[in-house]
Amino acid sequence: MSNNRTREGLSYLDPASPEPWASFLEQIDCVTPHLGSLSRWTETLKRPKRMIIVDVPIIRDDGTIVHYEGYRVQHTLSRGPGKGGVRFHPSVTLNEVMALAGWMTIKNAALNLPFGGAKGGIRLDPRQHSEGELQRITRRYTSELGGFIGPARDIPAPDVGTNEQTMAWMMDTYSMNNGSTATGVVTGKPVALGGSLGRHEATARGVFIAAQQAGRRRGVPVERARVAVQGFGNVGGTAARLFEGSGARIVALQDHSATLVDEAGINVMAASQHVARTGQLSGFLPHAEAPTENFWLVPTEFLVPAALEGQLLPERAKRLKTKIVVEGANGPTTPAADDVLNERGILVVPDVLANAGGVTVSYFEWVQDFSSFFWTEDEINARLESIMVGAFDSIWSVADERKVSLRTAAFIIACQRVLSAREQRGLYP
Ligand code: NAD
Repeated sequence: MSNNRTREGLSYLDPASPEPWASFLEQIDCVTPHLGSLSRWTETLKRPKRMIIVDVPIIRDDGTIVHYEGYRVQHTLSRGPGKGGVRFHPSVTLNEVMALAGWMTIKNAALNLPFGGAKGGIRLDPRQHSEGELQRITRRYTSELGGFIGPARDIPAPDVGTNEQTMAWMMDTYSMNNGSTATGVVTGKPVALGGSLGRHEATARGVFIAAQQAGRRRGVPVERARVAVQGFGNVGGTAARLFEGSGARIVALQDHSATLVDEAGINVMAASQHVARTGQLSGFLPHAEAPTENFWLVPTEFLVPAALEGQLLPERAKRLKTKIVVEGANGPTTPAADDVLNERGILVVPDVLANAGGVTVSYFEWVQDFSSFFWTEDEINARLESIMVGAFDSIWSVADERKVSLRTAAFIIACQRVLSAREQRGLYP
């Protein structure tokens, strides 16, 4: 897997940025000196346990046959079943899915959730397909994964380009193939099918809680902050609404179609309604549309990358005018950019902590499905806040004690948990 392979047609990727799996490996190397005797096990984190590549053929509505490549990577299963989303996007590669699965291992362990790390994806543009075609693609992909997924094996969830409906089709396909309804095979399902209240907003709620905690420690109150959000989907759109609801001003928004900059503040609800109608931010505030790069230059207190990985590159990090970066997306900051931000004293709340609210409520959903006993939304949100704040505190303490970044601290805690489990289980046979 070369580092210089570019993905044509995707302007957001700098050819100089490392591929995601290379970033993940660099992060593991960075944490290894902090792991003492457990460091002899770190090679296990550099080799995903299982990588499944499947052909996904469907007949399109016009009668033509197309084939897509689908992936599921189970990075580690040492602490429990695999857990991680499924992405439908034209830039999905095995390399990307490997990294996303690795970050799920770290995230689940950093939050002390009883899961390993996994991720899946299909390289396609969901916007080019009808609902019926997407259903056929999803069902075939699920069938091809066969016995590798399951409530005790590996539990997919939504990610970029997938949603509650995708999860409902996956759950139904798995259940039909196995002869009984298995709600716990996926999370992020509709509530009527055993989904959890609060799941839809959970990732963004976690981002917001992480921002509040970071702001408190740096003396930067969220309530009076200027905020820039990249990505206006499930995570970015909902996070923008939560920030706005607290009194913060959203001064920049960016999605795949447009960059909006308005010092006076952008009305998030109106923007959401425009996106619900048209599918994009473009056209919402024509007078506020700015060149793509301007997004990174807007003076703010909080910057929330919540689109895709590899966005915050060193050149952008050098010019950033913010105090705190809260990573809503997975892997938005390249390791080289991370160094620049650390040198500049810009606090980075890493993805493996900041966006862990989604998988935390997915964990609640899985537990509720097993027990067939469902909690209220207030209970969900209270438990989410308690887990997020607890994880933030522990990661902050380790960062403080060892004089490392929050990312390295989160990796230290997570790797200690994963590798201790590995060591205690021993190598089979
Ligand atoms: P989504 O599909 O709902 O939204 C993605 C957003 O990113 C869209 O607004 C899209 O227009 C925008 N985007 C795409 N390409 C872009 C580009 N080149 N420049 C700027 N914006 C671009 O996806 P989501 O679920 O909100 O996920 C966003 C990120 O958060 C991903 O990195 C995902 O892995 C991560 N994440 C999601 C969850 C979850 O529960 N959905 C949980 C944890 C992490």
